[in-house]
Amino acid sequence: MVWGGATVDAIARLKREQAVIASKRSSIRPHQLGAGSPKESFDCMFLCDVCGYLCDTDPACPSCGRTAWIDLDYWHVAEALREREEEERRHPPDRLKWQVRLASVAAGAAIGIGCAGGLALAGLVALGWPSLLGLGGGATALAHRLGRRRIGRALMLRGSSRPTRWHMPLPLVAAEAVVAARAVGQPQPRGPLLAAPFSGRPCLGYELGVLFDAPGDAWPPIWVLREMRSSAFDIDGRHVEADAVTLGLPLTAVTRPAMTESARQRFLRQRGLFLADGQFELFEAIVEPGAAYEVQWPSAPAGVPPVIHATTGVAPRGAYR
Ligand SMILES: [Zn+2]
Repeated sequence: MVWGGATVDAIARLKREQAVIASKRSSIRPHQLGAGSPKESFDCMFLCDVCGYLCDTDPACPSCGRTAWIDLDYWHVAEALREREEEERRHPPDRLKWQVRLASVAAGAAIGIGCAGGLALAGLVALGWPSLLGLGGGATALAHRLGRRRIGRALMLRGSSRPTRWHMPLPLVAAEAVVAARAVGQPQPRGPLLAAPFSGRPCLGYELGVLFDAPGDAWPPIWVLREMRSSAFDIDGRHVEADAVTLGLPLTAVTRPAMTESARQRFLRQRGLFLADGQFELFEAIVEPGAAYEVQWPSAPAGVPPVIHATTGVAPRGAYR
């Protein structure tokens, strides 16, 4: 086995992304509105208003150490969060807006120049700067008008995203970490397998991603969830506890979810999301029973969970990286 640059790249990507996750949220606190209103009929999660960490209970936030929990059980709290996020979606970050604009200009210019060249070859127009500029400008405007959502989505899928909610093993990998140890083999489960929520597939662990788009509102689509869960397993003589491994596997779209619409609605509501608000695209990665993986232990900080990768080279991450 050769441990090349791709492995190091994967760790570096993970560190960059986690630094972004750790400083995600604003300081508005819907939980301060009080808690006297009706509750949801089933248990919902707690959302940290500082860093976006999702938790089943409300100790000090395992990620940022604060206790700014948004108790999503309460309808009026969840509604306040919903309204705040709807407002935030109307103002995408300038950096993202410019990325979309520049991609539109590049796509439009390529189309315009191609059209002008084609017409010139057909003898319909003289190929000169006026026709190039005219067609290029027209195509740029058209590409931006028709394609900005598509371009925005493609940029999000490439990985410049910040999920508004996340739950993954902590602590996060330190910036200076290197790979301290590795194990390769078939993870042997030490307990019942999990069922991946979206696809229903049995697995040793899963990562979920949810991309949300509200036509006329979200511009472009945004990541609203990243969540990892895993069962305990042994690999190559080493033990990994439940919920103590980070998945470094490519996320893929789940176009035909196994869960019913009401189950999907409940799953999202437990995380402070509302199926009626727009379109939710579901993504998933799983650790398959019986397949071989590589588990890497980063060198820092102390107690940092290992990262599980595919053994057949490190594939591009798809949705997040
Ligand atoms: Zn937090």
